[in-house]
Amino acid sequence: MCGIIGVFNHPKAAELVMLGLFAEQHRGQESCGMAVSDGRAFRLRKKMGLVKQVFTPEVLKELDGTIAIGHVRYPTRGTATEFNSQPHLVETLEGPSYALVSNGDIINYDEIRKRLEEKNVYFKSDNDCELILRFIVYKVEKEGRSVSDSILEVMQDFKGAYSAVLAVRDKLYMFRDPFAIRPMVWGKRADGVVVTASESCALDILGITKQEEVGAGEIIIVDDKEIKRIRADVDKLRNGKKPSHCIFELVYFSRPDSHDFGEDVYSVREAIGRKLAQVEEYDIDIVVPVPDSANFIAVGYSREKNIPYEMGLIRNHYVGRTFIKPDQTIRDEGVQQKFNTLPNFFEGKRVALIDDSIVRGSTIKNLVRMIKYAGAKEVHLRIGSPQVKYPCYYGIDTPNQGNLIANKLTLDEIRDFVDADSIKHITLSDLRTTVAKPDEYCYACFNADYPVGVDNEPK
Ligand code: AMP
Repeated sequence: MCGIIGVFNHPKAAELVMLGLFAEQHRGQESCGMAVSDGRAFRLRKKMGLVKQVFTPEVLKELDGTIAIGHVRYPTRGTATEFNSQPHLVETLEGPSYALVSNGDIINYDEIRKRLEEKNVYFKSDNDCELILRFIVYKVEKEGRSVSDSILEVMQDFKGAYSAVLAVRDKLYMFRDPFAIRPMVWGKRADGVVVTASESCALDILGITKQEEVGAGEIIIVDDKEIKRIRADVDKLRNGKKPSHCIFELVYFSRPDSHDFGEDVYSVREAIGRKLAQVEEYDIDIVVPVPDSANFIAVGYSREKNIPYEMGLIRNHYVGRTFIKPDQTIRDEGVQQKFNTLPNFFEGKRVALIDDSIVRGSTIKNLVRMIKYAGAKEVHLRIGSPQVKYPCYYGIDTPNQGNLIANKLTLDEIRDFVDADSIKHITLSDLRTTVAKPDEYCYACFNADYPVGVDNEPK
């Protein structure tokens, strides 16, 4: 999973990109980078680490230019190394330079890479963003296509998810796959600055009040003179199917203050909580979220049932992601460092503990143990997504199918394994009622219905 941003027409474009990336830090904490153009050449800076560590005021001073694109990375394809981080840059001898950032995953990566390698195109990384970039550059430089026609060819040939920003000399191109799987928004300020980003929270802090989605299969081209919009023939590219936005963005990944796919993220989460409360069969004294991802789900549950919402778990915000640690013992230790219970708080209480999802089960198992140790009488798990049973091939990091706890154990066995008194997930049909256009989402991690197929090498 990743976050992207592009800024056009600001004398300190790099500073705006840094602020936008900082707002999107939750989308990727392994590496970050930006490419800044002064209309002639690019300056590229990318490094492992967090936005504020990499883009210090001293570094930003060196990144002069009015067009900039940036990226935060949470690896799904290619290892977590600097050479796989983004942006990718291709400099041509006589022509312009090209820089690209993208969010998503390409499932026919191997096939397209082989095709390009047979034409003597060389790669520096295993990252799918570089594949998109080299494809476009090949089309423009070797086959004489325009940049926008080359992007339209990407939409024909590439299968998977990509929300992307391309900078070519003094132009910015935003584009999104025909299924619009990952979020992407854009807008223009009164002073003429154009910004695009994965999430609206990044546009908010840059003062973009009028925001719009980059459409499914759309290319938006920005230069000094105009903003041009081109739409691919999405019906043909999607074989008559509907768009397929990632529902997990609304359930977990996006920030609650963002607005994705026409939905306010926080209100979808609140609706999920209400649904969970409507089917509650137990007597509950308090509802406690796993912070921060389940906060709004618990708000909805609490409002619907009229029982107190309590922040019984405190999260240490300086612990990195426990989810991607390579070893189970390290993941367990990470969860213990990340959360603590309020003292003298849980004694004798019947708790509805709310989380957004269960993947391997590490988080919830450790939390139930902590809350019981703190004296809770009963712990009832209520989960804001159906069981995650299948891997994501479109940009969310999920372990191999065999490591998903929902594939290894029955629900009763999971309840016993995590030592909860009961466990209930929202049903897929209830989840569908929480969004305005339920047929326009991808639910493949719950039901294996993959709208664009799966990778050649299944996870
Ligand atoms: P686990 O501990 O493996 O069951 O993971 C579930 C926890 O990780 C939940 O609390 C989620 O908020 C979070 N989570 C779920 N999916 C992801 C993901 N793809 N990347 C990072 N964290 C996730």
